[in-house]
Amino acid sequence: MTQNVNQNEAVSSRMPILFVGHGSPMNAIDKNPYTFMLTSLARKIPKPKAILVISAHWLTEGTWVLGMEKPKTIHDFYGFPQELFDVQYPALGSPETAKLIESTIVDPRINNDLEMWGLDHGTWSVLRHMYPLADVPVLQMSLYMARSPEYHFNIGQQLLTLRDQGVLIVGSGNLVHNLRQMDWVTHAKPHDWAIEFDAWLKSKIEARDFSALIKDFHKTEAGKLSIPTMDHFLPVHYIIGAADLNDELRVEFEEVHNAAISMRTFGFWPKELSYF
Ligand code: ZN
Repeated sequence: MTQNVNQNEAVSSRMPILFVGHGSPMNAIDKNPYTFMLTSLARKIPKPKAILVISAHWLTEGTWVLGMEKPKTIHDFYGFPQELFDVQYPALGSPETAKLIESTIVDPRINNDLEMWGLDHGTWSVLRHMYPLADVPVLQMSLYMARSPEYHFNIGQQLLTLRDQGVLIVGSGNLVHNLRQMDWVTHAKPHDWAIEFDAWLKSKIEARDFSALIKDFHKTEAGKLSIPTMDHFLPVHYIIGAADLNDELRVEFEEVHNAAISMRTFGFWPKELSYF
């Protein structure tokens, strides 16, 4: 580590951007190597003024941003222990950041949600480990499911300038996510197609071949099996869209859990925030 960035209260430098594979909702209350990774990752990031999460679990018509002062905690799953339903993540919202996002994104028009949604587990299962005190304002952006990956990439490109204004942008999904082919055992042997497609994505991200993530992901059988629906894949398009050519790619975690869910987690970091 070349500087102890976590002690910087005032953000003057560009923020990194993260794609987090969130996996099972149980990760919200478990302690394991993946959740320890999230905790240590947050300590390397200057304290954000606000966090914008593009969550795989808020699917809408049109693109929406949470605009309320106090977003509620949403438990958008069933069949899990009561302990998980008892979790609250009481971070404040940031109406002024929502307005900033609406004015920054020229096309499409961004809708402001004051009542429909809140913080879903795509957000709080991750942020509970990164910011356990819930002391940073949090917003979510929805996924307009009827739109192509280009649409989502285009919004990501327009979000780039928010990185200079203290906003930490997090895409929360899974790059391989097939619930029909999953195994309830976390470390069950991964399917060959899951390993193959996760490795393909890794190579394309390393090569900054982002057009492959936009256009080529369904060209193989492995790709079709890995992305049976687009919801958990689309958050990555915001992150590759908001990446800068000068950023460094840092891979934080790469395992396939439950045989069919890639937990691949990575970020694009400004070089001056080097922590190695
Ligand atoms: Zn999910």
